[in-house]
Amino acid sequence: MLDTLPSTDGSGAASELVIDLGAIKRNYLDLKERLGGVECGAAVKADAYGTGVHQVGPALFEAGCRTFFVATVDEGITLRDVLPRARIAVLNGLLSGTEEVFPEHGLVPVINDLEQIARLRQMCVKADRALKAMLHIDTGMSRLGLTAEDMKWISDEPDVLSGPDWLYALSHLTTADNPDAPSNAAQLARFKEQLPRLQRRMKASLANSAGIFLGPDYHFNLARPGFALYGGRVKDGEPSPMAPVVKLSGRILQVRAVKAGDTVGYGGTHKVQKDGRIATVAVGYADGYLRSLSSQGVVYLGERRLPVVGRVSMDMLAVDVSDADRAEVYPGGFVELLGSRYTVNDAADAAGTIGYEILTGLGHRYTRRYIDAASGEA
Ligand SMILES: *Cc1c(COP(=O)(O)O)cnc(C)c1O
Repeated sequence: MLDTLPSTDGSGAASELVIDLGAIKRNYLDLKERLGGVECGAAVKADAYGTGVHQVGPALFEAGCRTFFVATVDEGITLRDVLPRARIAVLNGLLSGTEEVFPEHGLVPVINDLEQIARLRQMCVKADRALKAMLHIDTGMSRLGLTAEDMKWISDEPDVLSGPDWLYALSHLTTADNPDAPSNAAQLARFKEQLPRLQRRMKASLANSAGIFLGPDYHFNLARPGFALYGGRVKDGEPSPMAPVVKLSGRILQVRAVKAGDTVGYGGTHKVQKDGRIATVAVGYADGYLRSLSSQGVVYLGERRLPVVGRVSMDMLAVDVSDADRAEVYPGGFVELLGSRYTVNDAADAAGTIGYEILTGLGHRYTRRYIDAASGEA
């Protein structure tokens, strides 16, 4: 399904973004299988990595996912509307001023420091019940979570964790996409060293997408994949084992003849070497097609690979279509900017970034179409 271009009739909207919910569900089930019996959650922060949490949340729930991770309280409230029965954890923690919101919307805070523990315990007293929470332990990211000193203090103060219903202790890997990085084993060791200091048995969670592929030692009781669900790669420099989820088709606005010596786009950075043809496509950096893909990106027309030439502008980019079949390149037609041939990961490599940034940057000027293809075959 992801291999076919949209038909040229229809809404008149410029370009089209297709999101394959079937592929997301297959990716979820694939990861779940790799986890054996361990629970598989899902990171759906940033609007499900740009793919649309209103559609993706229910698709994942249908596939069996029950524990969802968002970054902010607002994302949690949005997801709660979509998924009344899911467990929704808020990674950014329990900030002052949000005390009412968590119980009201049934959100689970991921507690990141000692002050938040105290805040949560007060909330439990006020509510007269054990509110659910998760506890984030830092093992090397130095971003969020309790430090080794905090953990030592906790182990010396028996009552610090009493009150709340602690679902999981979690930590986050810095370099899971590189299985050879010594930091993986080091973080694992630190996590295992900290868990007994909690003075109460807590289930544990360490693995993001790439962490699942590091093997069962990293699985604990719950995994929290994000990127892999959306087709992302799980090992640096290797093709993704997951099904591609997004396909971006750019609409051709104009096809023009260019002569040797002409320049294309802002700054005249691309100089035409021999007479040929340029297709102007209605996708630009304002649509999340990064400007760093200027003269770097690739598009597909059928099986033919064609280069993006010159600077990507705000609303448009230029493709050298000199080598393409004339009949296939016409105003109103489409070229494939992202898909199974040129993936989010490929575009990220060409742009000098990571696929996460490509996905979460996907714009909102496209017609968005959700499909639920039963298999990855076209
Ligand atoms: C974003 C995030 C994840 C998901 O990571 P992926 O690499 O996308 O699988 C898991 N855990 C935490 C704490 C996160 O912030």
